[in-house]
Amino acid sequence: MSLGPRALLSVAALISLAPTFQAAGRLAERASERAAARPETVFPALAKPDWGEADARFGAPRAGHMHEGQDVFAPAGTPLVAIRDGRIVETGDEGGRGNYIAIWSADARRTFVYLHMLRPTRFEPGDRVRMGQRVGAVGCTGSCWGDHLHLEVRRGRGTTGRPSDPLALLKRLAARRAARE
Ligand SMILES: [Zn+2]
Repeated sequence: MSLGPRALLSVAALISLAPTFQAAGRLAERASERAAARPETVFPALAKPDWGEADARFGAPRAGHMHEGQDVFAPAGTPLVAIRDGRIVETGDEGGRGNYIAIWSADARRTFVYLHMLRPTRFEPGDRVRMGQRVGAVGCTGSCWGDHLHLEVRRGRGTTGRPSDPLALLKRLAARRAARE
């Protein structure tokens, strides 16, 4: 194959466009720096966290099962906010969970579940929420002894995915929030 005049022309055109490509690259770099600086997650309660005792930890034994989240103690009525942008996938007010809400983040591929809220949420499955948007308040509904948020982080969409220990994430978010105050 040989380069015809048309191919040579397009190479010349590309060379003349090089400064434009460089500028575009620099813009993209700056955009990704800005994205990195903007947090994607926030601490889910507007309170100084109290992590409770050993039985508040993820993995603590419960009657017939294990504790699948981390408890964060705070006064009743403390605002709860969406930990990330996401979509409500489940809400309810029954059983041991009390008033609860589940927020699915497609970016994180995780569902964040908030239990024992003071009142039923005003959101419905399918609603979008933005990071930091108020979704409820700390309470003690369902199986609960002392006002707290029970937070679960579950793999995938919905409340049945494998849970993971949220404490490291929560501590990081709490420290960042405290540093800004
Ligand atoms: Zn709990």
